[in-house]
Parts: sequence; structure tokens; C-alpha cells
Amino acid sequence: MVSGGASPLVVLLAAAAAVLIVLPVSPASALPAGLPDIKPPFSNTWSAFKNLSGSHFGDERRGLEKLKDYLWHFGYIPEAAASGRFNELFDADMELAIKTYQSNFGLGVTGELDVVTLTQMMAPRCGVADVVNGTSTMGNWSAVGLRGRGLFTYFPGSPKWSKKTLKYAIATSNTSINRATLRQVFARAFARWSAVTKFHFTETASASDADIRIGFYAGNHGDAKPFDGPLGILAHAFAPTNGRLHLDATETWVANGDVTRASSASAVDLESVAVHEIGHILGLSHSSVQDSVMYPSLKTRTKKVKLAADDVKGIQSLYKSTPNFVTP
Ligand SMILES: [Zn+2]
Ligand SMILES: [Zn+2]
Repeated sequence: MVSGGASPLVVLLAAAAAVLIVLPVSPASALPAGLPDIKPPFSNTWSAFKNLSGSHFGDERRGLEKLKDYLWHFGYIPEAAASGRFNELFDADMELAIKTYQSNFGLGVTGELDVVTLTQMMAPRCGVADVVNGTSTMGNWSAVGLRGRGLFTYFPGSPKWSKKTLKYAIATSNTSINRATLRQVFARAFARWSAVTKFHFTETASASDADIRIGFYAGNHGDAKPFDGPLGILAHAFAPTNGRLHLDATETWVANGDVTRASSASAVDLESVAVHEIGHILGLSHSSVQDSVMYPSLKTRTKKVKLAADDVKGIQSLYKSTPNFVTP
């Protein structure tokens, strides 16, 4: 047989190409348990990432620039590399960043943009970076030995509070959730942390009097960390002793009732996000433990308010040198 025509190789390549095209729309049920249930079209700021499926080192593809910006935002590409715009080239820095991301989220470390990795990247999440100054990584396995089996992390320098009674204020502007409901949600969220520490949280009506200031904001809101509209980044908070806890006002927040039965596919449980952000307020950074409340992402229509052993160990270890801060 002479070369040309539909040789077995060409057929094989065509079949491989078909697989590549089919992968991004594979059903969520084909994904490992626990991954976000994202069914295209999933309209959020990161949904275009699904078009990058199959990208690997050496590729030049439209959309890689936006993904680099994402990786930079969460600390995976160093600040220095962000001078000027990113390009569309899948370079060595990007491959390394993706490997670190995959390690942090407990995914297969392939360095490629496979479906599982992209699905995780598109999941709604906290705006706080996973890697700070290239040092504070969630999946810092060298630290696992030092801390037992914990995968919790702190902010650089391990900042913490030096007083046990913290006052919080809730601003009700930019939200249709009424004050009584907000008070109940945050009282329950703070109680999760006071149950495992000696912290005592009290609400105050005066923001100027508060250690912790909670509010809903949309887009740019004065802290150089703009929110991005529905889904994408849900909220962020600052390390001790800053005290600012910000929620994206454009989310479909569920403050009452069963979020798992919410009519909106993009419903997000306010209490779950509150428990996570209070963890930051107290000094915890992100954890690689998927069941922990300090895991960076939260599925829509999901409630996750119970502190996992990793969260408890993290907060108690942070304050153990501060007398009377934790229950022995
Ligand atoms: Zn967070
Ligand atoms: Zn903010």
C-alpha cells in the first residue's frame, strides 16, 4: 500500500483528536468524587478555561494568558513575572505553576491542563492566594512531618491575635439579606471557632469599635482586590490583625434554609463561606484537605460548616503558645 489516503495512523490521529474534543464535555459523573459538579455551560468568569483542555508545555493557545493571570492571582506565578501582560504561550513557568496547583488540590501532578485540573480551576473559590511569596503552599509536604498529618497553613510570619475577645460588626449595605438573618448566620459561624478555642466573639453595632468588619461589596471596593461578579471569587478576608471580611455582593447567597435544595444552580451557602473566611481572620491560610473548611473552593448548593480535624489542629497549633487560648 502506498502512503496517503486514510492510513491507520491518520485514523488513529483523528480518533485521538475526537477524544480531545469530547473530553471537555464529559459528564461530571465521570469525575472523581468530591470534585465540583460543573456542567457546561457554567457561566462564570472562569468558564472559558474549559476550552484549554489538553494544553501542555510548548502549546500556544488563545486563553492561556487569562489562565496565567488566574495562576498569578492565587500565587502560583511569582509577582515578578507579572510585569507587563502575560502571553498565550504554555511555558516552563506555567507548567511548574500547574504542577504546584495540582499538588495543592490533591490532583494528579501532570503539569498539563487536563479536564480534572480545569474543572477544579473553574470552581467558585475564596480570593485569598494559595501561595504567598512563593513560600506558603497548601500542599507543603515537607511541613507535614513537622505538623503531624496536618495540611493546614498560616500566613507568612504566622500573624495572630493577642487578645481573646474580638468584636465584630456586620454592614448590611449591598445585600438584600435582612440584619436578623445575617446576625444568626455569623453568630453560628463564629461559634464553630469559639467551640475549639478560647476566643470570645461579640457583635457590636459600631464598625469603628469592631476588630472584625464584615460587609458585602461588588467589583472594585478599595482594597485592590476587586470582586468578579457571580461565582469565580466568592469572598476574601485578611490576615490578623486586619479584621476585614468581604463577601461578593453579586453572588446568589443562601442565608436561610437548605442550600442543597436552592432553585438557583449558582446558589452559594453564606454560612459555609463565613466559617472559611473567619478562619483567615484568625490566622489560618488554605489547606489541601478537601474536607476541611479551609480548602479554597466550595461547590455551589453545598453546605460545609463543620470544622475538620485539620482545621481544629491548625487553629489550636497557631495559638498554643498563647496562654489560655486553646482548650488543652
Ligand atoms: Zn480562603
Ligand atoms: Zn475586599
